[in-house]
Amino acid sequence: MAVNKEKYQQINEELRLSNITLVAVSKTKPVEDILELYDLGHRDFGENYVQELVEKAERLPKDIRWHFIGHLQSNKIKLITPFIYLIHGVDSFKLLKEIDKQAEKNKRIIDCLLQVHIAQEETKFGFDENELLALDIGQFANVKIKGLMGMASLTENVNKIRTEFKHLKTIYDKLSALTPQLSILSMGMSADYKIAIEEGSNMVRIGSLLFGDRNYDIK
Ligand SMILES: *Cc1c(COP(=O)(O)O)cnc(C)c1O
Repeated sequence: MAVNKEKYQQINEELRLSNITLVAVSKTKPVEDILELYDLGHRDFGENYVQELVEKAERLPKDIRWHFIGHLQSNKIKLITPFIYLIHGVDSFKLLKEIDKQAEKNKRIIDCLLQVHIAQEETKFGFDENELLALDIGQFANVKIKGLMGMASLTENVNKIRTEFKHLKTIYDKLSALTPQLSILSMGMSADYKIAIEEGSNMVRIGSLLFGDRNYDIK
């Protein structure tokens, strides 16, 4: 299935006017599809799988800003530290420490978002509110925590989704009051990005609306 350029232009325009960053989620899609949006001027792309990301980054233009949005395993961090732009799903203290270590080796400061557990489903990774409020965000020399990321429940229940996003925004505001360095709230995907924006998101991660449905998907 082809890239939906019209949809891209429409969403991009809508978000640009509100200063919301669009991360085009290209997981499972070929580099040719990424290049189609690249040629329209798009630079922020999101990937979920380290191996796939590394292979694509090698083949694609170096001014792409790569966002890692998947569940990152400690032993794979070093593969992306040389070039990653933003890691969205940092879901444990252990992972933060490990990213800090690998970033130091690469003489980089790596921007990260902490993933917050907002969905009621058991399977979603992330910090909860109390853990976040207790965390000393400035303690890492080579990791800069720029904000929060969250995923709402996979449900048709719009009220539930809205409540979860509202909850994340509340946590973000509380944490921002303590930590002025925060500036990114990454929430919203193809199915729920409009609700996310209404609830205060300033970065959305959109895949299937732009690139079409995926044949396989692991979160
Ligand atoms: C796959 C994925 C997306 C994009 O999902 P779509 O429904 O295709 O827009 C966004 N965020 C995360 C964390 C993902 O894994």
